[in-house]
Amino acid sequence: MTPEAVYLDYAATTPVDPAVAEVMGRSLAEPDGVGNASSVTHVFGRRAAERIERSRAAIAALIGAAPEEIVFTSGATESNNMAVLGAARANAYRGRHIVSSRIEHKAVLDPLQRLQKEGFAVALLSPDRRGRIDPAAVAAALRPDTVLVSIMLVNNEIGVIQDVATIGALCRARGVLFHSDAAQAAGKIPLDVHAAPLDFASITAHKLYGPKGIGALYVRGEARAHLQPIVFGGGQEGGLRPGTLPTHQIVGFAVACDLAHHSLAAEDARLAGLRERLWRGLATLDGVHANGEGAACVPGILNVSFEGVEGESLVTGLRELAVSTGSACNSASAEPSYVLRALGRDTQLAQSSLRLSFGRFTLPQHIDLAVDAIRREVTRLRALSPAAEPARRAPDGVTGEAGGPGQEAWVRFTLHVREGVVNGALFKAYGCPHTLAVAAWVAERLRGRGRADLAPGTPAEWAQALTVPVEKLGRLLVVEDALADCARHWPEQG
Ligand SMILES: *Cc1c(COP(=O)(O)O)cnc(C)c1O
Repeated sequence: MTPEAVYLDYAATTPVDPAVAEVMGRSLAEPDGVGNASSVTHVFGRRAAERIERSRAAIAALIGAAPEEIVFTSGATESNNMAVLGAARANAYRGRHIVSSRIEHKAVLDPLQRLQKEGFAVALLSPDRRGRIDPAAVAAALRPDTVLVSIMLVNNEIGVIQDVATIGALCRARGVLFHSDAAQAAGKIPLDVHAAPLDFASITAHKLYGPKGIGALYVRGEARAHLQPIVFGGGQEGGLRPGTLPTHQIVGFAVACDLAHHSLAAEDARLAGLRERLWRGLATLDGVHANGEGAACVPGILNVSFEGVEGESLVTGLRELAVSTGSACNSASAEPSYVLRALGRDTQLAQSSLRLSFGRFTLPQHIDLAVDAIRREVTRLRALSPAAEPARRAPDGVTGEAGGPGQEAWVRFTLHVREGVVNGALFKAYGCPHTLAVAAWVAERLRGRGRADLAPGTPAEWAQALTVPVEKLGRLLVVEDALADCARHWPEQG
């Protein structure tokens, strides 16, 4: 753990357990690491193959599968692609309809979009306000030509657990293949893929204290005939997923599964305690909402929205915490979390969310530190927001503002004007970190300026001074508009 920040982003990836790292290091250094498991003609290859098969059994045991039902992949992204594309294409002759949900990981949604281009129809179900997919809605969405249902087991943003047992049973009864993305579930909650019942399940080592770059797709014995490969080559993994198997990665994955298997029950109780401690600490702030509250959740994820606070600005202020936000200010997409939007959260609450995720190495004092830091920052940002106080017009001053409540940015300047020039300037701002930084920077440079030359430069120049990326320039226009509003209301006798 880095000394300068508390890591609370376990849902993005977990730290590698030292026991896993140790076994992987040895595997790389020993002859076992030398051989290619496909080279059965010599002892190096055979030894690697033995280690891999022992590992396969440990990984299978964690989820209740048989060893031969485990197909190694590079991670859950590939497993999801393989299950969704592979099962749909292999069954296209029977029908071209798929049922899934709006809150799936992109590694399911993007392959589904690809399949639509190949002529498949996809029904995406919406969750209820708590994030649950109603099994009855799945049943209602099934058509005679439905060949695949894909519903995740645990959501990566809100931690809500779906009722895959009921969904699996109804799919089985209708002869429809059922895939579940179990990346956030494996090693966190008890999972028995046969009992569920699942035909395909995606898992990945780096969400359960193993290395990045190795995962698996569980393929139920009878479902294997209904799956096409998406990668072609040397015939490994029964031709389903060719490529030389990475012995050290697989060995590490297996140790991680063993550790998770043995600590699951005790960890569940401990993490539930930490989650409760975190929520109790945050709930003392007003206007805090737990996203997914009321639904069954994994204990290691708490997703909260703070009214009146923009998530990216909040995260920027929380330098001592490594956390994730549903705000889209700095992400590639312009949309805030599609998962929170699917829950019916309005844009502002979706923009104001923090995902706090924790696990094996999180201690109560880390949670307490997080609570203190978040309370401090939420309080600071709320006080900075124009919503904190009504706009007042000073007798010798001018107030101008742009944006407003419910919008993605809101900036207000209150200027003290004497003899036609600014004598003092205050600002209030709500929005992304760029908007806040530029509003503060501009406010500092208004003294001595008159109505005609009020703006200290142009948004392009502010962006350059504060190294705001060009594509975020639009976020500074609200500052320019607020200054223009000041000029419009300039006092006659200034
Ligand atoms: C992390 C994650 C993935 C992607 O897994 P990778 O191993 O990083 O490819 C897919 N689905 C869910 C639910 C995840 O949390």
